[in-house]
Amino acid sequence: MREHNIVCVSGGKDSTALLLLAIERGAENISAVFADTGHEHPQTIEYVQYLNDNVFPIRTIKADFAERIANKATFIAEKWREHGIAEEKVLRALAVMKPTGIPFLDLCIWKGRFPSTKARFCSEELKRNPIIAQVQHPLLEAGDDVVSWQGVRRDESDNRRNLPERECKEIDANTGAELWNFRPILDWTVDDVFTMHRKHGIKPNPLYQQGMGRVGCMPCIHARKDELLEIGLRFPEEIDRVMEWEKIVGEASKRDMATFFATAQLAGPQRTSDRADISLATHGVWQAIEWAKTGRGGRQYDMFRVDGEQEGTSLCTSIYGLCE
Ligand code: SF4
Repeated sequence: MREHNIVCVSGGKDSTALLLLAIERGAENISAVFADTGHEHPQTIEYVQYLNDNVFPIRTIKADFAERIANKATFIAEKWREHGIAEEKVLRALAVMKPTGIPFLDLCIWKGRFPSTKARFCSEELKRNPIIAQVQHPLLEAGDDVVSWQGVRRDESDNRRNLPERECKEIDANTGAELWNFRPILDWTVDDVFTMHRKHGIKPNPLYQQGMGRVGCMPCIHARKDELLEIGLRFPEEIDRVMEWEKIVGEASKRDMATFFATAQLAGPQRTSDRADISLATHGVWQAIEWAKTGRGGRQYDMFRVDGEQEGTSLCTSIYGLCE
């Protein structure tokens, strides 16, 4: 029975520090795995390649929703019609009920909606489950123990404050092999994380120098208001991409519409739970960016906000002080 150390790499600062730590400690049989959501910024994809070339070989995996989308198409063709849903709507949904090969988009087509801070199915479907199915379970089934290294820190959130450093998560019923979660940077600070990068001469993901507090999906459903503003100013092409996704996922939805951000997430005049008041024109992703430009609860544009043309993209807005 061998032990495998699996390090999940996201292209972010914590998982990079984690990978460096695993190598530094001489962990046996390391596998570095990147679960590509298809909703990453191109700079993150480039950064993962940089880590692959300069730190450790990284295996990229992707979630596959082809089968679930095919089953949903069958369900729509049979059940929506049985339930008297208009034929026009059925045909519209069936027309987009095809896998694109982009995991995030396919997940939303299958669900007929985007994830939200309250229905956070994305990380589970796009990261956790594919890593379990494609990497961890085959090893356990072969009788090898797995240690899953996780780059979480206590000071990130209340949920993480009381996590144990080690815990056994699963014992394979047939082979007796064990799956352990291991969180060796739980007590690290952000400074410790960037110190680890410097110690090994590894640059952090460049997005941290462009106003991003997190470098996961672009944008993440948890993006802060100031991050949204930066993304709108610096990466409008990413917002345009999501705007196209809103149209596709809306076609797949029984409600005829899907906004990337939950409408209740937007403050001020846009906040509403009345579906009749919601449209892509008023609550689509570009409207979320407009809201991010405002202050005073979304009712007034911030007078001192520098607009995109003045700001350009060369200014460093790292919230971690990475410009030094
Ligand atoms: S980075 Fe954000 S949007 Fe992407 S999977 Fe994680 S929680 Fe979901």
